[in-house]
Amino acid sequence: ATPTAVMVATGKGASLGVLIKGGNALEKAHKVKAIVFDKTGTLTVGKPEVVNVMLFSSVSMEDFCDVAIAAEANSQHPIAKAFLEHARKLRQKIESNRQSNNQHVTEAKDFEVHPGTGVSGKVGDKMVLVGNKRLMRTYNVTVGPEIEGYISEHEQQARTCVLVSIDGKIAGAFAVTDPVKPEAKNVILYLRSMGISSIMVTGDNWATATAIAKEVGIEKVIAETAPIGKADRIRDLQMRGLTVAMVGDGINDSPALAAADVGMAIGAGTDVAIEAADIVLIKSNLEDVVTAIDLSRKTISRIW
Ligand code: ADP
Ligand code: MG
Repeated sequence: ATPTAVMVATGKGASLGVLIKGGNALEKAHKVKAIVFDKTGTLTVGKPEVVNVMLFSSVSMEDFCDVAIAAEANSQHPIAKAFLEHARKLRQKIESNRQSNNQHVTEAKDFEVHPGTGVSGKVGDKMVLVGNKRLMRTYNVTVGPEIEGYISEHEQQARTCVLVSIDGKIAGAFAVTDPVKPEAKNVILYLRSMGISSIMVTGDNWATATAIAKEVGIEKVIAETAPIGKADRIRDLQMRGLTVAMVGDGINDSPALAAADVGMAIGAGTDVAIEAADIVLIKSNLEDVVTAIDLSRKTISRIW
């Protein structure tokens, strides 16, 4: 493409909320044959909500909430934020019903983040874990059949389950839902009509990921992936000779955004992701993935 064509296209992109960082991205985008989408915050809205809390031991709901609130208090994960909001309300309700005002620990000691699995810490003299089955496995916490049943029931409904263990025993669990973006399904369908296949990649578990993929019409899913694994999956596709785009919003996504031929960051995402990307979708609307590729195709075929 001529410098003038590139200028016209980037100007047009900017007016549409699609920021293209230079001619190189624009040149490559028309060749894209596969797009890898991050799940949380990219295909989904990214604001999870707690839809269920379940106890699996003799612990009271009050104590369960206090312990889990303390463990999640310093986590930045969207799941933690969703739980804190829900559990604090629940906790207040219990307290006002009883007209009591018990003192409780509000923050865990020795707080630790386990990327892609959860958090741990000491609440009073209790060792507390909040996270998925993989976290429990790491600490040799047994997940019995009743809990497995709870997990699969919710995962089939595209929800993510979080387990809470106190001193090596599962005390309870909660389920969160993160709805898919309204435009996601149509965008995937439209990309297919353009000859582009879509793939989902996520750190979340296989069952939830598969259920979400089905909702948006994606057939290829890669789940339970560490951040660095996301970039490896991009390279696998590139090794098959495909020009690959990656669409993501999080800190976890920046290695993959950098590895892709065309990295597209969701505007509402983190600064790190925006930095690593070639194209920024300011409106955070997935339809702009199509807009970006369209701009590139028009530039290359010199429609304007
Ligand atoms: P994603 O790729 O979907 O953004 P992450 O890699 O951030 O997911 O996390 C993967 C999984 O780890 C989550 O689905 C959740 O089960 C668990 N997890 C991570 N952090 C926390 C936390 N603070 N509290 C509870 N669960 C967590
Ligand atoms: Mg994300």
